[in-house]
Amino acid sequence: MSMQPSQTAAVPARIHLDRERSLTIHWNDGRRSVYPLDYLRSHCPCASCREQRDRPRAVGLSLPILPQNHQSRAQAVTASLVGRYALQIVWADGHDTGIYDFRYLREIDPGAGDQADAPARGPSIT
Ligand SMILES: [Zn+2]
Repeated sequence: MSMQPSQTAAVPARIHLDRERSLTIHWNDGRRSVYPLDYLRSHCPCASCREQRDRPRAVGLSLPILPQNHQSRAQAVTASLVGRYALQIVWADGHDTGIYDFRYLREIDPGAGDQADAPARGPSIT
């Protein structure tokens, strides 16, 4: 089924959500990624989270931004596939606009450094 070049086309073969702890993805190239929920939440790719992360501390406007009840332990309600390219996570605090596309998930894989690169480097089709 998969005839795509392997470089950016890794897709999850299996996804497991432990709602209080972590999201585990078994990729179709054999890698396994475990994302602690706190970590995932703090890497939420939605526009408003991004903006909050990028915003410098002192903007001059002193908006009363309350931390959204940011406990150390993020909890997820569901993770569902969005088309064939991404995963949407609904958090227990109601936040549901984070769409984590697979490439992004591969990029932020917290264990990526521990694992050898997938051996498929170049095209091996003869
Ligand atoms: Zn977000």
